[in-house]
Amino acid sequence: MQFCPKCSGLMIPKKEGSKTVNFCPKCNFKVKEENPDKKVIKEQIKKGPSFKFDVVEKDSESYPLTEIKCEECGHEKAYTWEVQTRAADEPATKFFKCEKCKHVWRDYS
Ligand SMILES: [Zn+2]
Ligand SMILES: [Zn+2]
Repeated sequence: MQFCPKCSGLMIPKKEGSKTVNFCPKCNFKVKEENPDKKVIKEQIKKGPSFKFDVVEKDSESYPLTEIKCEECGHEKAYTWEVQTRAADEPATKFFKCEKCKHVWRDYS
């Protein structure tokens, strides 16, 4: 049961097409039904555009060298750096760039 916010009269359900709306017979006030699509739109905004992953290669040769085997050429030294890819509370992703063949990969461990 719902009372009219305008005149405090008792509202009655009224069929409008496929949906039912609350309607005040005294002052003809009608309860506006919320757009059912609203919620969907909100969720889409929250998700935002899909996360794009960019490998940062610029100036990577100024990063420190570490001993790791390149999966491409077998060279055992690569430049290493870290990139914060997602939320700040998640660990940063480690990147490696082979000193010899310049192959770039990330640490999945
Ligand atoms: Zn009313
Ligand atoms: Zn290599």
